[in-house]
Amino acid sequence: MASKVFFSDLRATKDRNLLDKIRALMDALEPAKHFKRGSPTAIKIHFGERGNTAFIRPLLIQPIVESTIKAGGKPFLTDANTLYIGSRGNAVDHLNTARSNGFSPSVVGAPVIIADGLDGNDEVPVPVKLKHFEHVYIGSAVARAASLVSVAHFKLHEMSGFGGALKNVGMGAASRRGKMAQHCDVAPLIHEDKCVGCGTCAKVCAQGAITLKSRAEGAGTKRGKLKKLATIDGQRCVGCGMCIHTCPNGAIDINWATALPSFLERMVEYTVGALKGKERNSLFFNFLTQISPACDCYPHADAPIVPDIGILASLDAVAIDQASADLINGQAGLPSSCLEGSALEPGSDKIRAVYPMIPWEHQLEYAEQVGLGTRAYELVTVG
Ligand code: SF4
Ligand code: SF4
Repeated sequence: MASKVFFSDLRATKDRNLLDKIRALMDALEPAKHFKRGSPTAIKIHFGERGNTAFIRPLLIQPIVESTIKAGGKPFLTDANTLYIGSRGNAVDHLNTARSNGFSPSVVGAPVIIADGLDGNDEVPVPVKLKHFEHVYIGSAVARAASLVSVAHFKLHEMSGFGGALKNVGMGAASRRGKMAQHCDVAPLIHEDKCVGCGTCAKVCAQGAITLKSRAEGAGTKRGKLKKLATIDGQRCVGCGMCIHTCPNGAIDINWATALPSFLERMVEYTVGALKGKERNSLFFNFLTQISPACDCYPHADAPIVPDIGILASLDAVAIDQASADLINGQAGLPSSCLEGSALEPGSDKIRAVYPMIPWEHQLEYAEQVGLGTRAYELVTVG
């Protein structure tokens, strides 16, 4: 049976502004039936890396917080720390970044709690008994919350093709150990012909996995010049992908030979764990605004690939992500973005155009297979 995915566009009038429309989307989900009265409700969001500009505007979270309180929940905003060096790698930096990006209690109307504590180790092992994991490790603030509202900025992503509800909850709520478990086996490759030995990648690697080694340049030379080349220690690498985006010469790439589908499955199994015990107490919002070609984890956001579309809400994490991907691919691409040629056509696969090697549908297929929801949806326009 198809799941309902409620949709609101971004048109507004003086009598009905965007905040009213978000409230209407929340009402459509009948939150009082899903929240455990008087119990903590985790509003799982991405606060954006410092310098990123595509994350959801804090003001737009206000109506979700207000509606949660009205429906009996006790909301707090949350996210877990990151694996890579950046502005959200521990709770102090993370809270400072959240505040500077506007997520302060005075704006959003709820406290901000970092899900996995000061250094990413405050976790709860959750049994899932699936193909890859017996247990997954979820940030305790999410694991212990009685209800959950996922508020995801839907955008493209360099490891998963797209990041929506499934990734916001699965990767986003995982503790440090949980994130490492999802990324194992995905150490990137160095293209030696492109590497100039600048060392930029080694500086951003939080695991100390990259070193510069001297190698003889050019085959057959008697006294070949020594060239510095980056090398990655696969034992230390946790596959966070930070070096890929940092290399100024495009010399680091995802190792496509390793099983990307397996990474997507691990991420989905973490989504199962994060929702465990609150499968009937979780709501999902996807904001299809400023749809950037990469994650909000980067300290910048490239131009959106399609025009702003609207906001989706559902009780089904799979249906809402499928609907979001379909809506984006149905749009004409923006010529001012990184899309080119036929990728600009309405109906073309924008996700595959940017990340041709990522089987993005697999996270949806596997999520459906493990019972997280259905890819069949009915789009219902609200307001
Ligand atoms: S891989 Fe890129 S960032 Fe690293 S040393 Fe080589 S050129 Fe520099
Ligand atoms: S080498 Fe591995 S751990 Fe280090 S930045 Fe690159 S992907 Fe991350």
